[in-house]
Amino acid sequence: MLTSNQRFARNMVAHQKVKKAITRGELERSDICELCGKSPDPIEVYGRDGEINYRHPIFAHHWNGHKNALDVWWICQTCNAQLRGDEFHCGQITKEEARQILHPREIHGDRG
Ligand SMILES: [Zn+2]
Repeated sequence: MLTSNQRFARNMVAHQKVKKAITRGELERSDICELCGKSPDPIEVYGRDGEINYRHPIFAHHWNGHKNALDVWWICQTCNAQLRGDEFHCGQITKEEARQILHPREIHGDRG
């Protein structure tokens, strides 16, 4: 098991690789969440002095492990928040399964 610091460092490296690949044009960030199909507005991030910055609303999700840094799903913050934990980063859960975990109501009917 990794400590949370090791985990954080590993995640940072993976995300830096994604960033570089986007800069080089090797990877293209989607504007649409691959899981829920939404295209959210940019996320407002407040700086210390009250200024507002905007960050891209679509995140790189390392579904197949952080070692496979460029093997990502582009997903929104809402979906990303629900896909925490090793089981969602080990390549065991397919995109289809993740959709069912995130949106079970759409399968069972009208509870939403
Ligand atoms: Zn989403």
